[in-house]
Amino acid sequence: MRSRLLSVARALRADARITVMTGAGVSAASGVPTFRGADGLWKGFRLEDLATPDAFARSPHRVWEWYDWRRQALAGCLPNRAHHVLASWSLRFPRFRLITQNVDGLHERAGAADVLRLHGSIWDVRCWNRCTASPDQWRDDTVPFPVLPPPCPHCGGPLRPGVVWFGEMLDRDVVDRCLDATCCDVFFTVGTSALVHPAAGFLDHARRHGAMTVEVNPEVTPATSVVDTAISERAELVLPELDAALGAHPLALSTARLRLEPLLPKDVEAAHRLWTHRDVRRYLWDDRIIPRGTAEEVARASATDFARYRFGLWLVYAREEARTPVGFCGLRADGVGAGPQLLFGLYPKHWGQGLAQEASRGVLAHAFETLRLPRVIGAADAPNERSVRTLAALGMRFERRAGHDGLDTLFYSTEGRPPSGR
Ligand code: NAD
Repeated sequence: MRSRLLSVARALRADARITVMTGAGVSAASGVPTFRGADGLWKGFRLEDLATPDAFARSPHRVWEWYDWRRQALAGCLPNRAHHVLASWSLRFPRFRLITQNVDGLHERAGAADVLRLHGSIWDVRCWNRCTASPDQWRDDTVPFPVLPPPCPHCGGPLRPGVVWFGEMLDRDVVDRCLDATCCDVFFTVGTSALVHPAAGFLDHARRHGAMTVEVNPEVTPATSVVDTAISERAELVLPELDAALGAHPLALSTARLRLEPLLPKDVEAAHRLWTHRDVRRYLWDDRIIPRGTAEEVARASATDFARYRFGLWLVYAREEARTPVGFCGLRADGVGAGPQLLFGLYPKHWGQGLAQEASRGVLAHAFETLRLPRVIGAADAPNERSVRTLAALGMRFERRAGHDGLDTLFYSTEGRPPSGR
């Protein structure tokens, strides 16, 4: 398997057009049952008999019992390592596309951007009567619903799940975007039995467009004999190995004593610690509206910034303590007045070790060498001896002035030259 993984890894160049299509198998390790596995029946009903408009018309209550039960089960599931790798690829590769047949929302919860959801989402609902007062569909996370079927808040008629049932048309726009995504350099089919159309046809489409095709599935499927490389192993094992073979994330930085990793949606625990930090709150509150500040939102905001601007928050690891971050660094897209703003902070017990300077130098090096920014400016509240010393060590120009809120503030700037002392 190792040699096959390495040959696939070689094809995943930074500028490659990479498209991954997933099915139920990618969520199996999260505890979500696949349909055609041993759990393919529910209360004696075949699933194909529950997931149809006719079944709903006959008994909305019974169909909703099944969906409500699945929503409850899913609310207790977490994205697994396969979801996390794909989410990080959506940041790592600018031309990455993710198509899923799954309705469970786990790719999005892992932080993947712009997922093409072929079969809709179990977390969306819409009015069965398509009443004119209600939007086409909307998200509703209520678990469990107090009344089944849940009533439409606009007309009182029954709501239906926002998924595509057997016998229903797929969203034309989504199918077109999927077809467009199959014109790629590398096409993966992961954890799908490759039986359900049109998803099953996307593989052929990709082959016709000259893509290298890869299947990840522990079982043999109709795709196995067709793809260039079939990897007969579980997705949650293969994808992390493949990811490791790619080497460091391009936005990761290393210095002699430090490792800086971009703060990604999987880093919820670290984001939770950061959320109590005032600078991070400023980072998030200054220019965006986040109604409830949760760790998930901090991590997602950082990931969105990386995807859009290649800026965001980095976790700072001391080499000898590689698993637990000792602090963070960040570049925010727009600083005070003009240009990117640098943020850095360490957890108190690590102050005085010179890590703040070293980490900030790392991010500044990234700013100047990789991002080629003309300058970085910023402001620190409540300046003290330590922050003054850090800025001086970085070779930054700084001055103490009253901030717009009247408080003493340290304004700093690199003024068009890289920081000294690297
Ligand atoms: P499927 O149940 O037909 O096939 C699942 C495939 O995953 C099988 O080929 C199996 O060998 C493979 N698999 C099992 N464990 C795996 C693992 N750990 N790693 C990699 N592969 C693994 O599912 P399908 O092909 O996605 O098609 C069924 C339809 O049912 C889809 O349209 C989908 O919308 C729906 N569905 C969705 C979910 C979900 O949202 N999680 C769950 C079940 C079914």
